[in-house]
Formats: sequence, structure tokens, C-alpha cells
Amino acid sequence: MPDVKREKRITVSSPITVIAGVGEKRAELFGNLGVYTVGDLLRYFPRAYQNRGDITSLCEAAMSGEVSSMILTVGCEPKSVTVKRRMNLTKFTAFDESGKCEVVFFNQPYVKQLFHQGEVYRFYGKVGRSKNMWSLSSPDFESMATSRALPDFYAIYPLTAGLSQKIIRNTVALALASVDIEYEPIPEYIRKENSLISFAQAVQIIHSPQNLKHLGEARRYFVFEELFNFALKIAKNAQKRVGVPGIPLSLSDSDKRSFLKALPFTLTEAQSRVIKEIYSDMASGNAMNRLVSGDVGSGKTVCAAAALYLAAKNGHQSAFMAPTEILALQHYRDLSELFDNLGLKCTLLVGNMTRAARTKALADISSGETDIVIGTHALISDNVKFSDLVLAVTDEQHRFGVGQRELLAAKGKDMHVLVMSATPIPRTLAMSIYGDLDHSAVDMLPPGRQKVSTFLVDEGYRERLKGFMHKQALEGHQVYVVCPSIEGSASDIEDGETSTSGLVDFFGNKLEAPSSRLKNATEYAEKLSAEFSDIEIGCLHGRMPPAEKDAVMSDFVSGKIKILVSTTVIEVGVNVPTATLMVIENAERFGLSQLHQLRGRVGRGKDKSWCIFVSDNPGEQSKKRLDSLCATTDGYRIAEADLAIRGPGDFFSSSGRDLRQHGALEFRMADLCDDIELLYKAFDAAKKLFEKEGL
Ligand code: ADP
Ligand code: MG
Repeated sequence: MPDVKREKRITVSSPITVIAGVGEKRAELFGNLGVYTVGDLLRYFPRAYQNRGDITSLCEAAMSGEVSSMILTVGCEPKSVTVKRRMNLTKFTAFDESGKCEVVFFNQPYVKQLFHQGEVYRFYGKVGRSKNMWSLSSPDFESMATSRALPDFYAIYPLTAGLSQKIIRNTVALALASVDIEYEPIPEYIRKENSLISFAQAVQIIHSPQNLKHLGEARRYFVFEELFNFALKIAKNAQKRVGVPGIPLSLSDSDKRSFLKALPFTLTEAQSRVIKEIYSDMASGNAMNRLVSGDVGSGKTVCAAAALYLAAKNGHQSAFMAPTEILALQHYRDLSELFDNLGLKCTLLVGNMTRAARTKALADISSGETDIVIGTHALISDNVKFSDLVLAVTDEQHRFGVGQRELLAAKGKDMHVLVMSATPIPRTLAMSIYGDLDHSAVDMLPPGRQKVSTFLVDEGYRERLKGFMHKQALEGHQVYVVCPSIEGSASDIEDGETSTSGLVDFFGNKLEAPSSRLKNATEYAEKLSAEFSDIEIGCLHGRMPPAEKDAVMSDFVSGKIKILVSTTVIEVGVNVPTATLMVIENAERFGLSQLHQLRGRVGRGKDKSWCIFVSDNPGEQSKKRLDSLCATTDGYRIAEADLAIRGPGDFFSSSGRDLRQHGALEFRMADLCDDIELLYKAFDAAKKLFEKEGL
């Protein structure tokens, strides 16, 4: 049959049907894998490799019982026999200096023709025992009688029904042999600077590596490519923003003074600096797009308030969106008091309001009667019409999806946008990840904050710990207990709330099978209630309806509930100054930065506060991490330590949900734990590319 298919030039964009052996039907199967073009196929990377280059002796292979690669000589001519009906066996012996075995193939009668006494093959399979002999059944085999060296590695692909390893391997090999790769996504000077091989080389190697060193180079290429694309996207976003007009807003010195005078405290240096940065953005005539990060309790709210004030004093409206009603209420209480004194009108808008209050709020918002609107995501619903919104502030931004933030920003024209995050982000990382947002850090705590004494204990302290909790509660203080799971099995670890499950991988702590040793919140609360019949115990977790959650939280804020057992859903921002003890069970399960945030919920009042990590024999790594937390209270230093000890995995898996959401940090090849150096290099390269092209 003439090979018509080969006549045309095959490129990465040719449909996969140009490859010999791929007809309509097979193409459809490849389609199930998302593979439509030759390029797609080349980018269908193996998930693992068989290492056939590590040759073991027959004897070793038999002892280990593992799939092994052996070089054996065929000892006799194969014999084919039919046993039972339709079962064909082809058998022969093969040997090396360590011993002899029987090689058996089932229902592959054609192999009889392939093997002859004295020939040498590389076999790949598992050596078992049959009667008194070692046996190797249906192994993979390759003749050693070729002029070229056999490859050491074989790719293992993720499969789909109807496509075997062999089919995919062969199709990829044919594609590699016939494709004309003129495609190179990374500019040459960037490849040179970063010592990267070419796309053509990388793709060849990733499918059939000669050795591990080559494979490393190919992987490095694709990781870089992925991170480089990510960096370009961020750089583009940053660029889109430059020159987006924003209404210029400014403040007279006397107005500034009135604001400072109305505050119940003096600003910290960090707060003053951040407010200055915000004001300079908002005066520039370009739209502000700024992230304010700062440790829990560092006083970010007043920075937001300064921005709201600026907008209001210029006669415009602004909105402040918080992730929960309770937080919105708290902000409303604090801010309406402040703004009342300044002669500005605040309005609250949350889901849970009387119809009359809601109608009034909506009317005040649309008429321009109100200056500052504080609320939950109720703010972004369709029936909320602002008369003149110029500033949108989002608190605890990681609790919102990107879409929700954008919806709020779409409520006005030429909007200034400010987002607040309690994740202290190390500067080095922030520069990269948040390249398209300007970043201000409230990197010091207000004066007079007391240090939370932090200890790591094990189960041996259980009774004493209980006594301590009880004592705190009876003395009129309140206690938080955080557990990693809700009820039932450990698979209940609340996904989407903390992704605790991800941490286990990053820590390299052996993945414990779901174990009942994990403390779960509901059971824990029940037990405590039974033991401490004299005090009120509450329970809070992510599966509760929002209204119920809010009710429990309010009871805790008001002091009715003394001990609150919860998963990590407790609000970062909620202020309970009478809470003095934070107990974190299975502390090894949480990320450093996350533990630090949890700890930040106590020590907010005048009373001495404690944080106790309970962990029964944490691994060495975990112990080191928890110890570092006991010694430090500076969130930025902890974040840096997190980076140093474990790489950024911790951010990306737990406290860094906001980071992940921000730039869709889901990588196929890159692992930010291992590839952080490449991430920086990729950002560097993206920056250079933009500069070079005069963008
Ligand atoms: P967060 O950064 O966690 O949002 P908040 O803005 O809620 O922190 O502030 C935490 C507490 O610190 C609040 O009770 C606030 O009134 C207080 N606070 C903020 N700034 C100062 C300051 N400069 N001096 C004293 N107390 C402050
Ligand atoms: Mg806050």
C-alpha cells in the first residue's frame, strides 16, 4: 500500500491522523486523552518510566521478587503446547551465570519463531517460581543482537480504554520520527541564558530518555516553559493595568489630621507607610490595584478605612466587602463609629437583614445618600446599584473567588481596587506571584501586643491540658480548639477550607492511612461537653449552614460559649479579646503559616495568652517546624522559615490558597517545592523579554 500520508510535511499542528496507523477510530480514542494534533501527542508526557537499564542477575531478580531487567541467553529451542482448550503455551529455558529459568509465553504462539538457542535477549519481567524452577512469564524482551545500544528507559503513559502502552509508545515514536519540528516556544537567548536545551531535543528525550541526566534536562525545559508562560501572563496583566485611568482623589492636610484625630490609637510606622502608598496610588490618575498583606492583628483595617475616607471626602462612594456576616458586622460597628465622628454615612448590607432594613439600605446606596457601604458578598448581587462607586476593598481576599472580586469592581467605573490578605508573603515570592498587583506590607504589630506563649506537647499532657482549658474557661476567658477533621474518617479533612490533605505530601511525612487518631471536631466537642458539664461548649465546622455557623460564632464572641471546638473555619479576622487559649490538635497536619494565623486569634486582649500545639510524635521535620513556631511570632519571619525549611509548598498548599487562586497556580510539570529557583529565573526572563521588546 503506497504511503500517501508521508508525502505531506508533518508539523506539530498536523492532525494526529497523519501518523501511520492512526485512523479515524484511533484518533477518536486519542481525542479522549485531549490529543488531536501531532503537537498534542508530543506533549502527552509519560507519567513514569520503566528503568530497563539497571541489569540484575536472574538470582537477584528471583530473590527480590520485583520486576527486573536481565540479560539472558536462550538455552533451547522453544516448544509450543496447547493445554486445555484455546490455551497455548510457548516455553524455553534461558540462563545467565547466576542460574537458569523457564520462560513462558501464554497465547503468543508466534514467539516460537523469534527465539533460538544461543541468542541473547534483554528480558524485563518478574521472576517467580514454578515447581522447582525459576520462571519468567510473558516478559518484555529485546534482542541484544542489534548494532545500537538498547534504551534504558521506557515511557509509561496514562492510558485510556482502547489505547495500550504499546500503541501510545509506537505512535509517539512514529510521530517523533516523522515530524518536522520548527517550533520553539522559548526565545533562543533566554534558552542560552538559562542553559536550556531546545524544544525538539526536550520532546525527544521526555519520551525516550537515554539516561537520568538527559531526562532531568528535558524536565527542566518543560518546567521552565510552564513557569515562563505563567510569568508572561502575570507580566501581561501588570501591563494591562498600567495606564488604566482611575479618578484622581486627594485630601487636604486638615482632613488628614481630622482622620488621625478620630482614630482611637496612633498609627504604627507600617500603617502610615501603607496608607501613604494607597493615597499615592489613588491620587495618580491611574486605577489603584493594590494588595495589602499583614499579619493577623497588624491593623490592616485602618488602612482600608483611610482609603474609604479618601473616597468619601472626595464625594464618591466606596465599598468594603468581608467574607462573612460576622466579620462585616464587626467592621460596620468599628467603622461606623469612626465615620460618624467624621460626618460620613456608613451603611451595612448583609444577607440576613429585615426586609425594611434592606430596602432602606438599597435606597441609600442607589441615591448616593450613603458614602461607605460595608457588607458581605450581598454587595455584588444584581439589585445593588451604587450611585457613584470608585473604590472596592475586599477583606480576607482569599475567601473570595477572583470572579467575586471582579464583580464588585464592575459595580463602578474606573475603579480603585484594594485587597487585604492576612497571609504574610515573603517579599521574594510576592514579587513573583503578585507581579500584577502592587504590594504593601503592614509588617509590624501595634505596640503593647503581648506575645502568645507557645508550646508543643504530646498526648502525655492530655490531662493537664484539659485542666488548663477548664481553668481558663472558669476564669472568664475563652478557649479555641482546632481539629483537623470533622467527623467520621480522616478523609473528612475539610477540603477547600485548608487543604490539610495536601500538606501531608509536601511534608514528606509518610502518608498515614486515614486514621482514627485524627482528632475530629464533633466528637471532641461531645466528649468535652460530657466532661465539663459546668461550661458551654460549641462546635463549628465547614459543613454547617452559614446561618448556624454565624450563630455559634456570635455566641462565642458574646462569651456564652466558653470553649469553641472547630475545624479551621473560624474567622481569621474576628476579634475575641477575651480568648486566651488556642489548642491545636494534630498540629503536624497544618502548615506553618496557617498555624501562625490560628495562633493570631488569641492574645488580642489584655490577658496573657497561650497557644498549645498537640502532636503525638511528629516526624523530625514537623518537630523542627513546630519548634521554630514556638520560638518566633513574626509572621514574615515564619513565612521565610517556611520557605527555607520546606520550600513554598506550604504556601501553595495551605495558607496560600489565595496565591493559588490568584494566578491559577496549577502546574502540570512544575513543583514549586523543588522548582522555586526556576520560578525566579522564569520571572527574570519574562521581564527581560518585555523590556527587550519595548513593551
Ligand atoms: P488585621 O490586620 O488582622 O485586620 P485589625 O485591623 O483587625 O487587624 O486590628 C486588630 C486590632 O488592633 C484592632 O482591635 C485594632 O483596633 C487594633 N489596632 C490597629 N492598629 C492599631 C494601632 N496602631 N495601635 C493600637 N491598636 C491598633
Ligand atoms: Mg482583618
